[in-house]
Amino acid sequence: MKKLLAVAVAVTSLFAHAQSFPSKPVTIVVPFAAGGPTDRVARDLGEALRKPLNGATIIIENVAGAGSSIGTNKVAKAAPDGYTLLLNHIGMSTMPALYRTLPFKVESDFEYLGMVNDVPMTLVGRPTLPAKNFTELTTWLGQNKGKINLGNAGLGAASHLCGLLFQSAMKIDMTTVPYKGTGPAMTDLMGGQIDLMCDQSTNTSQQIEGKKITGYAVTTAKRLTTPALKDLPTLQESGMKGFEVTIWHGLYAPKGTPADVTAALNTALKAALKDPEFVKKQEALGALVVTDRRVEPAEHKKFVAAEIAKWGPIIKAAGEYAD
Ligand code: ASP
Repeated sequence: MKKLLAVAVAVTSLFAHAQSFPSKPVTIVVPFAAGGPTDRVARDLGEALRKPLNGATIIIENVAGAGSSIGTNKVAKAAPDGYTLLLNHIGMSTMPALYRTLPFKVESDFEYLGMVNDVPMTLVGRPTLPAKNFTELTTWLGQNKGKINLGNAGLGAASHLCGLLFQSAMKIDMTTVPYKGTGPAMTDLMGGQIDLMCDQSTNTSQQIEGKKITGYAVTTAKRLTTPALKDLPTLQESGMKGFEVTIWHGLYAPKGTPADVTAALNTALKAALKDPEFVKKQEALGALVVTDRRVEPAEHKKFVAAEIAKWGPIIKAAGEYAD
């Protein structure tokens, strides 16, 4: 009888915990500067999460620098109560290969809440660059060796990964210019301070459409159907065999966050990913909201482990272009 009572008390308190979450604002840490693609996903997702989280206030906090490792570390060390979350991208799986040491462990310091989207990358250039398409760009690159600047969001960023693979495929060393996010890098690209950048379509499609930058290629296996990007060739069809990079975003909580809270957050995430407004905004920018099993925490974790295994050797092989 005593045992039964104890079980009943435990179940009731678990239920009470889940019922009362969230009882204060939830912060989503974005490990890149405001105005960039990760920030944009986080802000749109934050809006979509509000309703399924009982109208809770969602605060977006930009903790930028060092290719997302600073913000990621902050969440790894935050109180595991569900009120501090991390939205990060493929960097979760490339940082372990790119950094000799990291102050956190991607696979064991987080509760995985689920995956958010898949986002194509685009190769883009400053508007004053004389090359108007990819073929002309390869000629221009050949003529300007030693003088080419490539912006990125630091070691471990998606723009870093894509730029690294591009330099390696072209066998051309470029001077990389690191920013705290590709939001500020985009400002400099539009202003002509840097020559090239590889960045997510969520940050480039509107600028390509507005002719503020030049789009050269997409990094997906097939051409995209998004109006702003549909005329861009893939890097593969442009002669770069096997060049395929798709960025994804996932949501994480610090390790040790109670299971009922992570379950409530996963349920809210699934609802947000079905929010028609969120889906529409993502698709307009070329991103695809996750509809498959990777929205399940265990599947997302398996997916990230597979990504770590996939990118490690590729990054090592392209290593001479890392900086
Ligand atoms: N997505 C960008 C990158 O990884 C960074 C950002 O979101 O600002 O390069």
